[in-house]
Amino acid sequence: MRIFEDINPLQAFLRSKKANQENIGFVPTMGALHQGHISLINASKVENDITICSIYVNPEQFSNPTDLVKYPRLLQEDIKMLEAASCDVLFCPSDKVMYPERPKLKIDFGFLETTMEGKFRQGHFTGVAIIVSKLFHIVNPDRVYFGQKDLQQFLIVKQINNELSFNLQLQCVPIVREQDGLAMSSRNSRLDKKERLTAAQLYQSLTIGKQNLLVTENVFDTKNKMAHYLSAFNDIRVEYIEIVDAADLNVVNDITQHEQVALCIAAYVGNVRLIDNILLFNID
Ligand code: AMP
Repeated sequence: MRIFEDINPLQAFLRSKKANQENIGFVPTMGALHQGHISLINASKVENDITICSIYVNPEQFSNPTDLVKYPRLLQEDIKMLEAASCDVLFCPSDKVMYPERPKLKIDFGFLETTMEGKFRQGHFTGVAIIVSKLFHIVNPDRVYFGQKDLQQFLIVKQINNELSFNLQLQCVPIVREQDGLAMSSRNSRLDKKERLTAAQLYQSLTIGKQNLLVTENVFDTKNKMAHYLSAFNDIRVEYIEIVDAADLNVVNDITQHEQVALCIAAYVGNVRLIDNILLFNID
């Protein structure tokens, strides 16, 4: 695997690949890689000649300074995982390379800014938009791979892609879970043993919600059932439970009026904030 820390050598390398008509697939990450990230790498490898992963813990998207300090950084382990997955290129820039100066740009995403993650993490999506746009300019990929785990982030990137005419092909890859259902996340390593066991209840509440919603078609009752289920666990503090249209995050009242519905949750387990979601209608 070729590893680049600077922009110019990376771009020279990628230009030579493009000149050979090779397609470039791109997987942006913040590192502390797990099998969820690797599933994005695998998806890219199927569709592209060259797969590039970036690892950069973007300070601009952290609204909570403690979360930034505690975010796991495991570059050597990450390199081993990427090599085992036959990733072709790793871009792991420093803060100085990515931000010679702190960005002053602010982006308002309209409705997406006011709901779920937007509501609870002030400035988060501006931070995401800036880093993603910078990386798109630097890498100039043909296809980019994001996880359904961060559904709202995917919709934000879709909006940037459309409104700023990046014209990239965006792919949304399903959530990879641990055996007990907990969505894989770099933040899971911060849970202690007891919290780690409890964290699986977030997925449990999503599956209970999904079953209830399919049977009753009652959104209000379903949200209540999920909240009630989770209230039995002392380590869990729910931030939001939302049942939304998966294409735009608009609130759902009547599930029969929507092509796809997502049940979404954000909750603290101990001091660790986790998010997860599940789609209501199975796609064959
Ligand atoms: P992160 O390193 O957390 O910023 O995530 C990088 C990319 O991996 C994002 O597009 C995430 O949505 C995706 N991702 C994170 N966790 C998972 C998972 N459990 N399954 C699939 N994709 C994931």
